[in-house]
Order: sequence, then structure tokens, then C-alpha cells
Amino acid sequence: MLSSQIVPLKLCADHIQTVRSHAERSYPHECCGLLLGVIQPQEKILVEVRAVQNAWDEQVATDLGDQPSLTKTRRYWIAPEEMLAAMRDARSRKLDVIGVYHSHPDQPAVPSECDRQLAWQQYSYIIVSVQQGKAADLQSWLLNENHQFQREETLIITPYSLTPAPYPLSPIHIVNRIT
Ligand SMILES: [Zn+2]
Repeated sequence: MLSSQIVPLKLCADHIQTVRSHAERSYPHECCGLLLGVIQPQEKILVEVRAVQNAWDEQVATDLGDQPSLTKTRRYWIAPEEMLAAMRDARSRKLDVIGVYHSHPDQPAVPSECDRQLAWQQYSYIIVSVQQGKAADLQSWLLNENHQFQREETLIITPYSLTPAPYPLSPIHIVNRIT
């Protein structure tokens, strides 16, 4: 059950395009990146999509107790240094890291068990499926209190504005769901 406090992730069409292009460029590897934005009780807004390198390698696989045979075609990893740098950069601009995106080459835009285990509460996880090199479905996911992923509603806004929404958020405004 969705709790009443959950608000849609607001983003711009440009953000989606950036994620899709990165995913296609990285194919057949998974791409990854960070979502910088604002989280308030009534609002969650994506401000910037920041591409980072997929640092997955055998060492990471071993450290995580994962199968060393899995490569970047099935896994991604964001180096802690990249995460820290993004957090620092975000804070200096009064933003936060609010989530992560990554791609699933020739797999559906559905979190894997590994994605679930490594996921952080409150983060939005955007996954884009890439089929034969072409970006396909894109879906944002959010953990619930049982550490299970549920679909996160998204709301496309344009143009982006940091000022509070000029209207109360109601279902009627959720017109552009990403499916
Ligand atoms: Zn994944």
C-alpha cells in the first residue's frame, strides 16, 4: 500500500532523454548515474541527472559476495568517491542526492534482487530497459517499509522551477506517467 506521504517524483522530459541516451551509449553495458534534486515533505523534484562511471568489476563482485562471472552487462557499481563528490556538489547548491538511475541491457525495467539488496530507503531508482541498443521502458522505483520495491509515480514538469508548485498536487495533474 502506498502511504499518503508519498509524492510523485517530478522531472523534466530532458532528464529522461539524458538517461535514455546514456543507456544507449553504454549498451551492452549497464550505465549508471545519480539524481540530484530536492526532497521536501510535499515535494520531490529532480534537478539534475549526473552520469557516473559504471565501476563494477571482479573486485566489487567479490567484495559483495556476488558471482565474479557477472560483468557490467548485468551489474553496475557507483564508486564511493563518486557518491561523495556528488553529495558535496549537491550540498553546495542546496540540493541532495535523491536517487540513482541505471540501465538494464536486454532486460526489463524491473529491479533485480541485487538492486533491491543494495538499495537505500527514500532514494528513487530509475531503471531504463535497453533492447538491442535502443532505450525502451523507463520506470522509477522506491523501496517500501519492507525493503521491497514499488513503482514510483512520476510527473513530468516543464519548465523546471525550484519555487513551490503553483497548484496543489492532486491526481488530476498526474497526466504524464512514465510506463
Ligand atoms: Zn539493475
